[in-house]
Amino acid sequence: MEKLTIVVPAFNEEEVLPSTIKRLLQVENDLIKDLLFDQKSDILIVDDGSTDKTWDIIKTEHQNNDRVAGIKFSRNFGHQNALIAGMQTAVKTAAVIVTIDADLQDDPTAIAKMAAKFANGTDIVYGVRNNRATDTWFKRNTALMFYKTLNLLGVKLIQNHADFRLMSKRAIQTLLQYKERNLFIRGIIPMLGFKTDKVYYKRTPRLAGESKYPLKKMIAFAWDGLTSFSIAPVRAILLLGVLASSLGVIALFYSVITKWLGLTVHGWSSLMISIWILGGLQMFSLGIIGEYIGKLTTESKQRPRFTIETTIGE
Ligand code: UDP
Ligand code: MG
Repeated sequence: MEKLTIVVPAFNEEEVLPSTIKRLLQVENDLIKDLLFDQKSDILIVDDGSTDKTWDIIKTEHQNNDRVAGIKFSRNFGHQNALIAGMQTAVKTAAVIVTIDADLQDDPTAIAKMAAKFANGTDIVYGVRNNRATDTWFKRNTALMFYKTLNLLGVKLIQNHADFRLMSKRAIQTLLQYKERNLFIRGIIPMLGFKTDKVYYKRTPRLAGESKYPLKKMIAFAWDGLTSFSIAPVRAILLLGVLASSLGVIALFYSVITKWLGLTVHGWSSLMISIWILGGLQMFSLGIIGEYIGKLTTESKQRPRFTIETTIGE
C-alpha cells in the first residue's frame, strides 16, 4: 500500500494547529482504515519561521503520535517555499502528497474525494472552492481581477483553486524540477501535464487566528505571479511607446499644417499634459523593465529557497 503525506505550511498558527492536526489525523485514519493508504501515512508541518508556539506544538504532537512530523525554517521564507520544502521532504517516502493550509479553511473531507480520484489514476487533483462567500468583498474582487488579468496574459490558472491539492509522486518530482526562486506554484502546476481532475468543496472561515496574508503580501504575491509568468507587461510598454511616438508624429504634421495655414497654435497646456503623461509612462516602463532585471538578478544568484533549521520525525 502507498504512503500519503499531508503537507501543512504554518506561520504563527498556534491558535489552530492542535485542532488542525487532530482533524487531519482523523481524515487520514479513515483513509487508512479503508485500506487506501499505508499505516505509515503522516502529516508534515512546515513551520515557516513562526515567532509563537507553533514549533512547540509540533514537538508535543510528535511525542503524542509519531505520524506527526515537522520541519522548522530558520526564518520566514513564505508560504510557497514552505510548500516546496514540505514536498521535497515528503516525496522521498510518500507516493501521494496533499497540501493544505493550517487554518482549515479548506474542507479536509475533500481529501477522501481526492484520494478516490488518485486511486483511479489521476496524478493531480485540484481542490476548487465553490463559493467565496467567506472571503471579504475586497478579497473576492481583487482575486477575481487577478485571475482575469493573468488569464488575459496567457497564464493558465485554475479559478478558485489555491494550494489545496493532491499530487502523485511523479507529478511532485516534475514540479521540483522547476528551479526558479520566484516561485508561483499555482501557475506552474497546470504546465506539468499529467491526468488532472477537480474536487469541489465549500471554503469556511478561518478556524482561529487571523490571515497571514496581509494586503502587502497579497500584492507582492500577485505581482510575482504576473511577472514570473508573462513578459506581456514589457510588450505592452513597447506597444505604448510605438503608439505615443506615432501620435507625436501626427501632432508634428498637424502643427506644421496649422502653422502653414496661418492658424496659431495654443499649445501650452497640451504640451505640459503630454510631457507629464509621457514622463510618467517612461518611468512606469523603466519600473517594469527594472522588475524583470531584478528577477534575473535574483535567479542568477541561485540562492537557496529556504534554510531548514531543524526537523522532527523526518
Ligand atoms: N503561511 C506561511 N507563511 C507565510 C504566510 C502564510 O506558511 O509567510 C501559511 C499560513 O500559516 C497558512 C497558509 O500559508 O497555513 C495560508 O495563509 P492564510 O490562511 O493566512 O492566508 P489566507 O487564507 O488569508 O489567504
Ligand atoms: Mg486561510
